[in-house]
Amino acid sequence: MPTETRTTCPYCGVGCGVIAKVEDDGRVSVKGDPDHPANFGRLCSKGSALAETLDMEGRVLAPMVSGRPASWNNALDLVAERFSSAIRDHGPDSVAFYLSGQLLTEDYYVANKLMKGFIGSANIDTNSRLCMASSVAGHKRAFGSDTVPGTYEDLELADLVVLVGSNMAWCHPVLYQRLAAAKANRPQMKVVVIDPRRTATCDLADLHLAVRGNADVALFNGLLHHLAQEGHVDEAYVAQHTTGFADALMACQHASLAELAEATGISTLQLRLFFQWFAKTRKVVTCYSQGVNQSSVGTDKVNAIINCHLATGRIGKPGSGPFSLTGQPNAMGGREVGGLSNMLAAHMDIANDADRDRVQRFWASPAIALKPGLKAVELFEAVKAGKIKALWIMSTNPVVSMPNADVVKAAIETCPFVVVSDMYGSTDTARLAHVLLPSAGWGEKSGTVTNSERRISRQRPFLAAPAEAQADWWQMAQVGCRMGFGAGFAYQNASEIFQEHAALSAFENDGNRDFDIGAHAALERQEYDALEPFQWPQRAGSKPDETRFFANGRFYHPDGRARFVPVQAILDHRPSTEFPLILNTGRIRDQWHTMTRTGKSARLSSHMAEPFAEISPSDARQFDLEDADLVELTGTTGARCIVRALITDRQAPGSVFAPMHWNDSNSARARVDALVSNERDPISGQPALKNAAITMKKVEAS
Ligand code: SF4
Repeated sequence: MPTETRTTCPYCGVGCGVIAKVEDDGRVSVKGDPDHPANFGRLCSKGSALAETLDMEGRVLAPMVSGRPASWNNALDLVAERFSSAIRDHGPDSVAFYLSGQLLTEDYYVANKLMKGFIGSANIDTNSRLCMASSVAGHKRAFGSDTVPGTYEDLELADLVVLVGSNMAWCHPVLYQRLAAAKANRPQMKVVVIDPRRTATCDLADLHLAVRGNADVALFNGLLHHLAQEGHVDEAYVAQHTTGFADALMACQHASLAELAEATGISTLQLRLFFQWFAKTRKVVTCYSQGVNQSSVGTDKVNAIINCHLATGRIGKPGSGPFSLTGQPNAMGGREVGGLSNMLAAHMDIANDADRDRVQRFWASPAIALKPGLKAVELFEAVKAGKIKALWIMSTNPVVSMPNADVVKAAIETCPFVVVSDMYGSTDTARLAHVLLPSAGWGEKSGTVTNSERRISRQRPFLAAPAEAQADWWQMAQVGCRMGFGAGFAYQNASEIFQEHAALSAFENDGNRDFDIGAHAALERQEYDALEPFQWPQRAGSKPDETRFFANGRFYHPDGRARFVPVQAILDHRPSTEFPLILNTGRIRDQWHTMTRTGKSARLSSHMAEPFAEISPSDARQFDLEDADLVELTGTTGARCIVRALITDRQAPGSVFAPMHWNDSNSARARVDALVSNERDPISGQPALKNAAITMKKVEAS
């Protein structure tokens, strides 16, 4: 009898429900889950091709130590012994974990508990630092908490949807489908796309503002100034629910529309139109994604956007609000359990004494981390400097995806002890492991993920994990036990971890923290298995319809008020003579991250078959390039990469777009992120992956 399993797509932050069907002969097919509130049955090209990526080629089937198969016992003993000896000889900050938004919340929870609560270091960061850390920092500055107030339905209810730095059509395709369907039914709805590139998302736009890279702060400061000048500020809301408006307005440095046009690259006509639409539309949702976050001024960009929503009181209401879209399937779930090195579990702060005390008592922890740990770029800098003696990388491929990727690779090569947990043994990172641990993958493991609208959904297994592959949480719990922390890590299944996570979220939480799923703290295993998607918070005894954040105008700062954050518009990355172009790295429609899974599907790979760079016609002329030439891109890091030139007027002069997916395994010298320097946002630590200075030259046929 064929069996059907309801689960969740493992790719982007939309978090679509999937029904996987396994036939009697083992063949798997997938379709969208019509009852899942994220997608109502829709799937994009990547989700539809999930069944094509489930073959066993490249899977790690047994633990490997120094390239040779080993038993789990021996491998885990070795990991525990090497981490323990590094801690004994060099202190707890000499070890580090680097995690992934691909991990399930239960994996993330155990990793954070082990590192922050038992090892006593906060050197645990994640590739989600590359994805949404600036939004987290912006939320905390404005709201006093990392709270995403928006829901997908808000996009459908809004009369104006502003998409900033978000190629939603390719990067959140099902949400884009929902938006397109809503727009088709609601003639009054307008969509504004703010992006230096004319992306596929612009097909839906009533107005495309081709903003210069990093000029978003100038644009939204200009909007705030306009709102104040033209009498569109909600004075009562600002007075009752916020502080800091005057300072934020002062920071807008009044510029004429012509000066603003010069700074942003947007015509005065378009600026005026956008400002008027925003000012006069009551229901406005502003969505933002990597074009905002992946910047040296990412946090300021987030706050410049939020400032405009606070000024108009357009937050906490249906069809209104700022809305950060997460890139990865579980970037949000990682945040809930303290997946970033400056956070503790359940949206508590390492830097807060009361929070540390609360978590330590709950965990009965012997050595809670006392200070924030290293953020992703700093973490690999510490590896390079020889300060990290033992490193555990899980479910991610930093040798390809980190900025300055060549240096990251060299750093990992010099680290005395590297553990990699992954499904595949041939990734650029897995090849550097001293110990390679076989992880269960999508369709094999059990747990939860949280999507961009705070909706927690189950990932359920429908296939047996191959050979000796095991869940990531199990691997860490086993190492925790072997390091002498047994009582805290005696989990039998993912359900027990979820229960503990839910109980911690409610522990001594009388409404002073946003994240609370206490309603699920006593979930039985069968209830966990049957758990329907739900949005947090869901406090003990609360109903799902009580979940709209900020509807009562109260925020999580001690005085209950939101903060306007004064942000200065600084235009950085002025091109130099040596590196006259700005590289904007990004994603394409049919690939996911470093292609370890999507690269298996011939159908997906046929969309764009080789690495390329989009170059404007004027830059092509200047650099003597023709369409389909091979072009060598060189970054300030000294790294080079060779890709195919794609000449297109979608690309603004002075900038080059190149996808980050290709890697050494499938295309030599195409690791684009190697060109990007370690420059990062000083507040969030998020690297500026969309603003790297480069130059380029044609590769002459030899
Ligand atoms: Fe998966 Fe995202 Fe596509 Fe949905 S939109 S099917 S979550 S990749």
